[in-house]
Amino acid sequence: MRKPFVAGNWKMNGLGEAAVTLASEVRRLIDGVEGVEVAVCPPYPSLEGVSKVLAGSTVKLGAQDVFWKDSGAYTGKVSSPMLKAVGCGVVIVGHSECRGRFGKADAEITDETILHFGDTDASVSLKLKAALKHGLDVILCCGEMLAEREAGNTDQIVGVQVQAALHGVSTADLARVTVAYEPVWAIGTGETCDSAEANRVCGVIRGVIAHVAGAAVAEQIRIQYGGSVTADNAAELLSQPEIDGALVGGQSLKPEAFAKIVKAAV
Ligand code: PEP
Repeated sequence: MRKPFVAGNWKMNGLGEAAVTLASEVRRLIDGVEGVEVAVCPPYPSLEGVSKVLAGSTVKLGAQDVFWKDSGAYTGKVSSPMLKAVGCGVVIVGHSECRGRFGKADAEITDETILHFGDTDASVSLKLKAALKHGLDVILCCGEMLAEREAGNTDQIVGVQVQAALHGVSTADLARVTVAYEPVWAIGTGETCDSAEANRVCGVIRGVIAHVAGAAVAEQIRIQYGGSVTADNAAELLSQPEIDGALVGGQSLKPEAFAKIVKAAV
């Protein structure tokens, strides 16, 4: 039986007191809720403050990205040991925004976007392996853009993303990976993937994991859905058998809505 996992991706929101208040509210509102794992992922400058707020609670602290080197001349990067040192237990890798996708078709991704945000399947895999090596759990994002869905390529796109990221990861380490299926066209758009279709794609992802690591591992790994999850649609999405939780963006900035999504996962 997989324990559902709901994580809030605050993106570039929540600084100082605002982050502390948001985290305190989340902690208060889900206090005593059992049967679900919860994490919040503030931006880097807020990690330390939020870590203090969450100390002693069941809410885990997560980061939104990580670099694969431990230290050195990598301007602007943050390493797994640094995230561990401020209390992170989990990190998101391969978010479509870090892959420079922003819901755009490949042809619309400019040099500028790729330059600043250009994660590839190879860099995502390096990040995932470095994080696992340092004891962080990982949320691995995958998902197709609208043009890829319309071309009938959804299964192939997510299959390649997941297989590339997980290649060479040991069975023991895979137990600390959660995959988040996030159709890029559903992120921040208010357009949610139909629950049956989201369930189908999560099943495809589980099949890919079974191919990479065997059926027993695939049965254990949690697969979240992400993309315009709200307090209103969470119950329907989270009742799907292949969906084991949610990665929540916009609604994770609203503590009441986030708490309702968490409770819908139980
Ligand atoms: C996300 O950024 O991972 C996400 C799912 O965002 P939203 O919930 O706002 O669509």
